[in-house]
Amino acid sequence: MSRIVYVNGDYVPEDQAKISIFDRGFLMADGVYEVSSVLGGKLADYPGHVARLHRSLDELQMTSPVSDDELLEIHRELIRRNDLDEGLVYLQITRGAHDRDFAWPSDLTPSLVLFTQGKHFEDAEGPKHGIKVISQPDMRWGRRDIKTVQLLYPSFAKMQAKAAGKDDAWLVEDGLVTEGTSNNAYIVTKEGTIVTRNLSSDILHGITRASVLKLAAEAQMKVEERPFTIQEAQGAAEAFITAASTFVCPVVEIDGVVLGDGVPGPIAKRLREIYISHARASAI
Ligand code: PLP
Repeated sequence: MSRIVYVNGDYVPEDQAKISIFDRGFLMADGVYEVSSVLGGKLADYPGHVARLHRSLDELQMTSPVSDDELLEIHRELIRRNDLDEGLVYLQITRGAHDRDFAWPSDLTPSLVLFTQGKHFEDAEGPKHGIKVISQPDMRWGRRDIKTVQLLYPSFAKMQAKAAGKDDAWLVEDGLVTEGTSNNAYIVTKEGTIVTRNLSSDILHGITRASVLKLAAEAQMKVEERPFTIQEAQGAAEAFITAASTFVCPVVEIDGVVLGDGVPGPIAKRLREIYISHARASAI
């Protein structure tokens, strides 16, 4: 079934959507994006995604072609037109189209594209059984706090994981885990403390991460924001990842070492439930 997508002011069937071949997003990966999850036809953690979008745009000296009110309305209109109950809304803003050049003129009109993707969160295999990860060197650029569309290296690392028969890769820099290819990474120590890397330009400031850490603290769970090694993770009681596309998803194996008894741990399972109820209750 063909979706209705949004391209620069128009709602069109997906096979009629057009972007210039001179768009800097296409030529230079000069663009930013956001992915918001949809639960019960509503947007989860949406204010966080818009705030991060503005931060990414500011850091790259870009502007949004629409106001925040218009952006929310476009999200809602796409959800309506595609009759989306559960899934994701992807949004991308690129600097705009111009004859290929490393330097860009200051007066470009940014391009805005949004589309929906249906997804049944409850049926997903990863959260049910837990995922297996491998480590890979983190060879991405140094501004991972900006959510840019340059995703070649993380795609490559994910393909390495698939080739090894696993689900995802945790990226490692200077001996410490930064994050997953498209998610933030956590361990739970034997004492029950949730550990995840502190915020800096080394990782994306996950919107799900922010909510999960707040919810964990409210549930009296102990949280430490600091880097950890693959070795520490392999000796942990549990591990998990967070992202808008998977919420909280347990990790049961790291570089061939099975964690605990190889099934999703109680803290990851509980956080997943708490997060999903929060996301449903606060969705707009
Ligand atoms: N880290 C990276 C590298 C990501 O690509 C993502 C999501 O795409 C995340 C973390 C999780 O961020 P969020 O919870 O906002 O989806």
